[in-house]
Amino acid sequence: MKILVLNAGSSSQKSSLYNVEGNTLPQQHPEPIWEGNIDWTASNDFGTLKVKANGIKQEMKLDPNKRVEGVSKMLETLTQGETQILDQLSEIDIVGHRVVHGGSDYSEAIQITPEVKQVIHRLITLAPSHNPAHLEGIEAIEQVLPDVPQVAVFDTAFHSKMPLSSAVYPIPYQWFEKGIRRYGFHGTSHKYCAQRAAQLLGKPLESLQLITCHLGNGCSLAAIREGISVDTTMGFTPLEGLMMGTRSGSIDPAILIYLMRNHHFDADQLDILLNKESGIKGIVGSSGDMRYVLEQIEKGDEQAKLAFEMFIHHLKTSIGSMLGNLTRLDALVFSAGIGEHSAPVREATCAGFEFLGLKIDVEKDAKSPIDTDIATEDSPVRVLIIHTEEDWAIASECWQILKQN
Ligand code: ADP
Repeated sequence: MKILVLNAGSSSQKSSLYNVEGNTLPQQHPEPIWEGNIDWTASNDFGTLKVKANGIKQEMKLDPNKRVEGVSKMLETLTQGETQILDQLSEIDIVGHRVVHGGSDYSEAIQITPEVKQVIHRLITLAPSHNPAHLEGIEAIEQVLPDVPQVAVFDTAFHSKMPLSSAVYPIPYQWFEKGIRRYGFHGTSHKYCAQRAAQLLGKPLESLQLITCHLGNGCSLAAIREGISVDTTMGFTPLEGLMMGTRSGSIDPAILIYLMRNHHFDADQLDILLNKESGIKGIVGSSGDMRYVLEQIEKGDEQAKLAFEMFIHHLKTSIGSMLGNLTRLDALVFSAGIGEHSAPVREATCAGFEFLGLKIDVEKDAKSPIDTDIATEDSPVRVLIIHTEEDWAIASECWQILKQN
């Protein structure tokens, strides 16, 4: 079965083609046989398309005013030139899309119909920089593959079983009824990490209690009890929770009222301040990148040291709050750019939980071994580094939907 996955961000369109043979999903994720990435931010004058297949890498420029056409150009590289991997696009059996926001409407992946598209469109107010890009991807596929089923896999879906005590904000209840509630994000990644953790531990997911830490440019945690996300740090939007690369995470909401009243901030200015100019970047000034922070600390930069200490503080306090929703902790999972690659972050975080008996093998940790348990043998809590595979997780959902049908 040939499964195409489209993972659209606000300024990028990543895509992978998987070939899954046989009647069961492979235990380990296979490598995609083709990958295409469009970056719309590389320049104001053009977008950049990078394609990888057949051991060859190609790069070309795209017209930034014709995004849907850009996706079609990317798909052409599947059937033409040195990266050709298919004779015709119709060999693709199903297309899966990562969709950031499914609101209260969807608790699992769903085949895309005109009604589903309408809902994704309606939810643009909740995900203004993402849902339009998802619709662009869906429409580009409709143009070239009108008869191929398309599936939406929602970042919010995995958290849809969170208890109301976590989902409802303590503001007048009528706002909950109007959709202002905690949705949670990074669900595909948290779910994949939980399933992979169960595989690595050799135990059924239904027997485990886990905290998964997705630490990339955006950061979130999930408390996962017997396979169900019972709490997560992101909420109504991906701004709530942990300190992130350029996002503030949770702050006293009265700061917003203060800035509006006394410094004449409007909604757009607050949006930029909290989403683009805060977090690590807000403290170190020039970058929200953890690698930069670690380099600057080596050079003795005090602001970088403060940013690191704040990042760890917020991470530890949030892990503490996730613990409150579990009855024990079997494993702490680190994933995404920072979680997978930064030994100092993992070490400083784990040091906060030695009172649970949690202990990591520092030498093992220093090598950042992927899909590996880095806890010491006597630690009652296992600590796993897991390379998140969101695209493969989306492909797996598509595979299941096609098999069910
Ligand atoms: P996104 O959320 O955009 O998918 P990633 O998961 O790639 O982002 O994570 C990006 C973050 O990972 C950045 O803060 C980057 O500095 C950090 N990162 C990547 N490699 C390392 C590393 N070797 N050490 C520390 N941080 C790293």
